[in-house]
Amino acid sequence: MKPFAYARPADVAEAVRDVAAEPTAVFLGGGTNLVDHLKLGIVRPDLVVDVRTLTSRSIDDLQDGGLRVGAAVTNSELAADRRVRERYPVLAQALLAGATGQLRNLATTGGNPLQRTRCVYFQDASTACNKREPGTGCSAVGGYTRYHAVLGVPAALPDPTAPETCIATHPSDMAVALAALDAQVQVLGPAGARTVPFVDLHRLPGEDPSRDTVLEHGELITAIDLPPLPAGARSAYRKVRDRASYAFALVSVAAVASGNGDVRLALGGVAHKPWRATRAEGVLRGGPLTEDTVRAAMAAELAAAQPQPGVDSGNGFKIPLVTRTVVATLRDLEA
Ligand code: SF4
Repeated sequence: MKPFAYARPADVAEAVRDVAAEPTAVFLGGGTNLVDHLKLGIVRPDLVVDVRTLTSRSIDDLQDGGLRVGAAVTNSELAADRRVRERYPVLAQALLAGATGQLRNLATTGGNPLQRTRCVYFQDASTACNKREPGTGCSAVGGYTRYHAVLGVPAALPDPTAPETCIATHPSDMAVALAALDAQVQVLGPAGARTVPFVDLHRLPGEDPSRDTVLEHGELITAIDLPPLPAGARSAYRKVRDRASYAFALVSVAAVASGNGDVRLALGGVAHKPWRATRAEGVLRGGPLTEDTVRAAMAAELAAAQPQPGVDSGNGFKIPLVTRTVVATLRDLEA
């Protein structure tokens, strides 16, 4: 592991200044992902700035009926909060579907959405990977693609040598629920504070697969706000994986049925970012939630899907699987 300096600033503003001043500096939250990457040589910072005790560790009621979750609130604390379990079951279920109890005791609200892909090539510093080392190519194309993206992929078959190619998926369960809940991200950076809609926090690879989010260097998540849901709204999270625990999603679904005919759907395991299924939402708006209408909505959503071939038979199975998972999730909400 490359040696690095370690800093424990006095407050959040100092932490932001410290990271902004050093181009390779990183924030340390729960460390459940970063520490692995330090050991593997995937990130090689000159400075690690510890913010674990600087941001809020409380969950506060907002005047509009929502909740403000401090960035240092752990995943375990958030999943156990009575208000979250009663008002946002989709979030509690997503949190409990992620990782293990030990990891959830450390992982934080600010850090979980910023965890990096678990693409096996990204985690192997001996392979070509545009996300880890821009311009080197993408080893996943034509390789092991079982956990890779089918949505948000360029229409042309991805070129493994092109610097913009990346078919990784975002691994967080929590982030899929936050996308469906229309959460708002409170950020502090060198230029001041700003609010980022959660659905806009993560990005598709575009020209630069090394960037997972729209955050600038030095910007720190300080809290995440959960807007109130309409009275009578119901929500649920369903995750499909290769084993019953401690596994990332092959596909996952976060659904919020508002009770007035509107349904919000976010999909995990299918794209470079938590995927808000706006086309499907549009088809379903105001109509009955029958199996036929849900299947039609998902057909619209998945019309542009690009299954990837690969050494393991590829990931085309995700297209019918995510449709079945949405059908089952909405059927449970209607029951
Ligand atoms: Fe790297 Fe993305 Fe390709 Fe995986 S899919 S090897 S993360 S560029």
